[in-house]
Amino acid sequence: MVEVIDGKNVAASVIQTVKSTTAALEKMSGLTTGLAVVIVGDDPASHAYVGSKSRMAKECGFKSVQHTLPAETKQEELAALVATLNADPSIHGILVQLPLPKPLDSEPIIQVDPEKDVDGLSVVNAGKLATGDLKTGLVSCTPAGAMVFVRRTHGEDLSGLNAVVIGRSNLFGKPMAQLLLNANATVTIAHSRTKNLAEVCRNADILVAAVGRPEMVKADWVKPGATVIDVGINRVPAPEKGEGKTRLVGDVAFAEVSEVASTITPVPGGVGPMTIAMLMANTVIAAHRAAGQVPPKF
Ligand code: NAP
Repeated sequence: MVEVIDGKNVAASVIQTVKSTTAALEKMSGLTTGLAVVIVGDDPASHAYVGSKSRMAKECGFKSVQHTLPAETKQEELAALVATLNADPSIHGILVQLPLPKPLDSEPIIQVDPEKDVDGLSVVNAGKLATGDLKTGLVSCTPAGAMVFVRRTHGEDLSGLNAVVIGRSNLFGKPMAQLLLNANATVTIAHSRTKNLAEVCRNADILVAAVGRPEMVKADWVKPGATVIDVGINRVPAPEKGEGKTRLVGDVAFAEVSEVASTITPVPGGVGPMTIAMLMANTVIAAHRAAGQVPPKF
């Protein structure tokens, strides 16, 4: 029988730890964990994400600050806001919601103070992950969440296991591959130029798909007994639900792959809920470091 990982459940237990460690830090050192979320423009999806991040931050007992800027905001104005937040001692985590509206350039903006870079996207934190420094760095939230699932199934040490990550984005594929490598897996990164992708995937004890192509990974791509982590979020037509209706699917053909894999994450309800949870986890880690305390492990 395949195990379907309940991402909501795992995320709820991460949030529980965030809440208790936030309260303990406040009691011990008088420090309230602070998260600032910056959103530019009117994209409804981005506003929905930011709304749930700010709500969750409050629920965790954080000081939660949201800066909503108009789409016409200039690059220098946004950079000035980030500089103010970098210098604000009551803020331990800064998140600038991406994508930024055109013509703003996100690259210089995501280089927030690395100690407050709770999205883990700055070159400093990407470099720390690449050099195996998980003690002082902060890791991008979605791969950090996917790795919680991997550890739940396989433990801390992935020695002898083959992992294949499909996708090589800075946001997900590269940091995911680094996390697996740090845990001693033998890692292959596949992408759009990979030859014989199905064959490469069949070698994986741990297969992670982050492509953005609905149900691309089929049952005959999967090694029997593998762990399959589906990061893709794709909206597809669902005429069975009524005219014009849609539904979410991952990059993995869930029903058929469930017949082969031993552990699988669903979409929705798998990796998705972990992203916000790990953002909260990164923020309370950053706050502990700022207070000179040992941060919790997630
Ligand atoms: P991305 O930047 O578009 O990267 C997609 C990757 O897939 C690229 O490396 C690309 O290869 C590769 N690819 C494209 N077509 C392929 C093919 N036919 N065969 C093999 N590889 C192929 O996307 P991303 O930001 O990493 O996100 C990937 C998916 O994860 C999306 O569905 C996104 O919505 C989802 N996601 C979910 C969460 C969450 O759950 N919270 C967070 C982040 C992302 P090249 O590099 O060669 O172009």
